Amino acid sequence: MKAKVLIIGGGVVGTSIALHAARQLDALKAPVVILERGQLGGGSSGGSGGILRQHYGDSVVASMARDSMREYSTFEGRTGRGVGFRRTGVLTLGGPSNPDSLRKIHEAIEGHNKIGIETVLLDAEQIRARVPGIEVHDDAIAAWESQGGYVDAELCVREFAALARTSGAVTRLGVAITDLIVEDGRIVGAETTEGRYDCDQIVVVTGAWMRSFLERFGIHVPVRVARVQQLFVGLPSDEEEVDSRVHDRDSYVVDLEDPLEQAADMLYSGDDEHAPGSEHPVIVDLEYGFYVRCEFARRRTRVAPIAYDQEHIFDGPDPDAKPDPELARWAREQLCRRLPMYADQPVLEQIVSWFPLTQDGRALIGPVPGYEGLYVAGGFADHGFKLAPSVGEGMAQMLGGEPVSSFDPEYFAPGRVPSEGDWSGDAYL
Ligand SMILES: Cc1cc2nc3c(=O)[nH]c(=O)nc-3n(C[C@H](O)[C@H](O)[C@H](O)COP(=O)(O)OP(=O)(O)OC[C@H]3O[C@@H](n4cnc5c(N)ncnc54)[C@H](O)[C@@H]3O)c2cc1C
Repeated sequence: MKAKVLIIGGGVVGTSIALHAARQLDALKAPVVILERGQLGGGSSGGSGGILRQHYGDSVVASMARDSMREYSTFEGRTGRGVGFRRTGVLTLGGPSNPDSLRKIHEAIEGHNKIGIETVLLDAEQIRARVPGIEVHDDAIAAWESQGGYVDAELCVREFAALARTSGAVTRLGVAITDLIVEDGRIVGAETTEGRYDCDQIVVVTGAWMRSFLERFGIHVPVRVARVQQLFVGLPSDEEEVDSRVHDRDSYVVDLEDPLEQAADMLYSGDDEHAPGSEHPVIVDLEYGFYVRCEFARRRTRVAPIAYDQEHIFDGPDPDAKPDPELARWAREQLCRRLPMYADQPVLEQIVSWFPLTQDGRALIGPVPGYEGLYVAGGFADHGFKLAPSVGEGMAQMLGGEPVSSFDPEYFAPGRVPSEGDWSGDAYL
């Protein structure tokens, strides 16, 4: 079998790369092929929060998140395919019990406004007006991103892959790579469980399994994984409570000059009967260290910590890992002291998943030194959805030998020497 590019891994990043690369290549000569050993979205992507926000201290990442947000928000209008994009707004919160959270918010807002990301600083009174029922200290502050929200993670991966197929890409599920075929330092193909593929470019997008995958071929990438735990609690959905939290949507959706963005803002592509605006915004709580986002379609709310102790960092995923009841208790406590409306809600489910981290908080995107034609895209921690469109565009340019316009390839070069850091994920915030 022949492929122009083999993409190993069918998560959001792999399918986004396929989508962008397939548009540029002639599928009749040789297609872009996604090889996924399980199901599309079967790795981190399927269990992801799918939160889209642009609030980062790192301006390179913030710019990519800004550009990716634009792609998500216009996706349905441009392609006729929904990815469940909901513009709930994102509130990034800081408070006096964690002075660093206040500093991060001020710094990020200053940086954002320089690169055209609409972020407004709110004081405690404005926060309370934005999220009725929230408990914040009088000296709390927040960065308010009216453009933020989330996508339906599973749907998004499926639709990216489906759109890639309309440009001639091929998805092969249940197929694993057994060997990379390298001649004179150059990739010429791969052996897989369904036979040999001849190709001159391979992109490894195996998420949390990137390190273990490449180690089999003697290639080391400086990536470890964080064991992350998500908690799902009931949504306070009784009509009165929900109604009391309905926001006047016009008050927080800023004027958009771009007609495409305007059209996207009018569209609602979720799969439940609630109109946009009838849920509280995504809250990223830098003071208490967790985030929360509603999932109306499933009548539940997702809660998770945003940084990890060293004891939660490993060299690779453990398929037998069990949820940690202590962490779940902690996350629920943080949620209820911030949003007491959840106090009576039951815990519905706890799940463990994994995401890959680098020590300096920057993903690895680009060619693997010493192997012509071998590329990686990974180490996105909990940014993979926010960045996938930009990564897909840039990687497709790289594969086509064009200058990369969607990010600085040097910044993410896999061969760089990482700065000192502690693997806790703090560098990603
Ligand atoms: C709990 C959690 C919450 C998150 N929340 C957010 C969020 O709110 N917003 C956000 O932007 N990001 C979030 N993220 C991060 C985001 O989900 C990931 O960065 C993103 O999904 C990574 O996508 P990927 O395609 O790189 O990897 P994955 O989705 O992990 O895909 C890798 C794929 O490779 C396959 N694979 C592995 N080995 C092989 C092999 N040998 N052969 C073939 N296939 C193989 C796997 O089966 C898997 O499907 C979250 C992550 C987690 C875990």
